[in-house]
Amino acid sequence: MSRRRQIYEGKAKILYEGPEPGTLIQYFKDDATAFNAQKKGTIQGKGVINNRISEYVFTRLNHIGVPNHFIRRLNMREQLVRQVEIIPIEVVVRNVAAGSLSKRLGIDEGEQLPHTLIEYYFKDDALGDPLIAEEHIACFGWASNEEMQDMSSMAIRVNDFMCGMFAAIDIRLVDFKLEFGRIWDGDYSRVILADEISPDGCRLWDINTGEKLDKDRFRRDLGGEEEAYQEVARRLGLLQDDAGPSEVFDLAKHRKRRGK
Ligand code: 5GP
Repeated sequence: MSRRRQIYEGKAKILYEGPEPGTLIQYFKDDATAFNAQKKGTIQGKGVINNRISEYVFTRLNHIGVPNHFIRRLNMREQLVRQVEIIPIEVVVRNVAAGSLSKRLGIDEGEQLPHTLIEYYFKDDALGDPLIAEEHIACFGWASNEEMQDMSSMAIRVNDFMCGMFAAIDIRLVDFKLEFGRIWDGDYSRVILADEISPDGCRLWDINTGEKLDKDRFRRDLGGEEEAYQEVARRLGLLQDDAGPSEVFDLAKHRKRRGK
């Protein structure tokens, strides 16, 4: 088998050239980083779970008409996605004060925000992904006004959908990060949702206990990060109850095991 061409290696994922033009293979690693990669570690089985959770969320978003890069899951750690030109902006949606918002503005973590906040961060590791205003985006041409409209309206739709999806499994969606990319058709481009949606880039708190079920367990040395990721997958119905500690239900493998 010929070796695949690696296009990009990020902190939690690797992108390889896909089988057809305009496609990529997104590989999910167990590597975890925090504080602009000053803290590094691994969360056993994270890649497998994030691949599955992201597949689930992107598929459901596709069903409600939020265009995204997901095509299909290929195996435990890989999915086929559309190649996009990533827009260098992280779109953060917040429902509850936490993390950098609490730190920056002195608002208690856990305080419900009067309304949903959308923030923009410039995707630049060397600068530590600084918070930016829409004016910076327009001034430096990182996205057009029309693209900003599309991104913010998609972000609100994703938030509305995910708040309900998580509430149904007793999880409070505190905040999350989205990334978008352009796909080109001749001289015209349109913006679609890209990257991943998983506990790596969302704050997910148990509605009843407030327990953190996301990457903050790693960032804040709380321990139990593997179990937290598994719990989210299990509540979404993606884990077989009798599966091993880091095994995500895989239909093909299941059939093979049963000799079918
Ligand atoms: P904060 O700005 O409070 O650190 O993060 C807000 C939300 O966006 C959190 O859910 C956090 O997980 C997510 N987020 C922000 N920046 C990044 C990033 O660079 N990587 C990941 N995985 N998530 C991020």
